[in-house]
Amino acid sequence: MSRSVIDLLATEARFGAQNYQPIGVVLTRGEGVWVWDTEGKRYLDCLSAYSAVSQGHCHPKILAAMVEQAQRLTLTSRAFHNDQLAPFYEEIAALTGSHKVLPMNSGAEAVESAIKSVRKWGYEVKGVPDGQAEIIVCANNFHGRTLGIVGFSTDPETHGHFGPFAPGFRIIPFGDATALEAAITPNTVAFLVEPIQGEAGVIIPPSGYFTEVRELCTANKIMLVLDEIQTGLGRTGKLLAEQHEGIEADVTLLGKALSGGFYPVSAVLSNNDVLGTLRPGQHGSTFGGNPLACAVARAAMRVLVEEGMIENAALQGARFLDGLKDIRANTIREVRGRGLMLAVELYPEAGPARRYCEALQGKGILAKDTHEHTIRIAPPLVITSEQVDWALERFASTLTQDFS
Ligand SMILES: *Cc1c(COP(=O)(O)O)cnc(C)c1O
Repeated sequence: MSRSVIDLLATEARFGAQNYQPIGVVLTRGEGVWVWDTEGKRYLDCLSAYSAVSQGHCHPKILAAMVEQAQRLTLTSRAFHNDQLAPFYEEIAALTGSHKVLPMNSGAEAVESAIKSVRKWGYEVKGVPDGQAEIIVCANNFHGRTLGIVGFSTDPETHGHFGPFAPGFRIIPFGDATALEAAITPNTVAFLVEPIQGEAGVIIPPSGYFTEVRELCTANKIMLVLDEIQTGLGRTGKLLAEQHEGIEADVTLLGKALSGGFYPVSAVLSNNDVLGTLRPGQHGSTFGGNPLACAVARAAMRVLVEEGMIENAALQGARFLDGLKDIRANTIREVRGRGLMLAVELYPEAGPARRYCEALQGKGILAKDTHEHTIRIAPPLVITSEQVDWALERFASTLTQDFS
């Protein structure tokens, strides 16, 4: 007899740090776009673990690669070579057109590693006086939860009472190239930015922004660091979101879907000498680049391409966006998205978005509210037209529902 939902929730609350407030569903199984709770109810997953499960839950080919590798060799540390690292490098470089790779585990670690690397590059290549490097970031950014990163967050919840923080960051508005130009000094080493601000509520910058950003960075010898941890690997309908504007970052950060949700795998990719400044002993991670992670990531990248998931994200994303725009409800302030990274922003008078997410849960859809009034929608990239239409019916009936 399995434990009751009430018991599981109470036990979590008793022992766990209360740093999350999950929707009240206890999941026990997943397959493709679907997940099941402990009572056997099925849901369409419209969050995909914040885009980490882009390839769909428990993808059989990633699973097979993981099981096969786990039976052979899981961890060597980087004190020795392992036979999965070289092919992982080769394949991720071929996929993304990068020249150098630094494997890490979580997304936040990739961001931290990029910050360390661009600072070092600034001192050793650009010639910035030691200890003076500046990195420009955007307001409402989300780059993870480590101390270095939360120090330059503008969300009081994220950084409140966690200081003191590291200096060396300048914050400018997102989507404003003039503000970037004004913030640049001779000591600026990098501009760290998300192509689309995910946690901020799927904020898409004005078109042409990244073209201008690229030009400013090149003209001022500044490394453009694109945090594609959420937007990357097909989520927006292209392999990398930078391709929507035909630009190339100097440093690209990947995580989340890099493992298809099986294992924490992240990477810093660079197409120049930034990663070349790291010498033996100057950076590392016990688990970074381990054979299990490499085998899982190789399979996760392979199925993404072989099974046409990137093209499907573009196709189904457009269908989903059109369908959401067709919903006539006076609760909806704006619908926006690119590929399968979508959001419905509600008018404040419509009440908290969480209420709508709970109503959607009742109808068999799991979606997540963000910033009070926005429902974010990001299903696995394997979603079909029929499943999109099925979801749209439920979004329509929920968004037109009267909660008052
Ligand atoms: C999720 C996310 C991160 C942090 O990744 P973790 O694996 O949670 O550390 C960083 N940047 C962006 C844009 C993200 O969406």
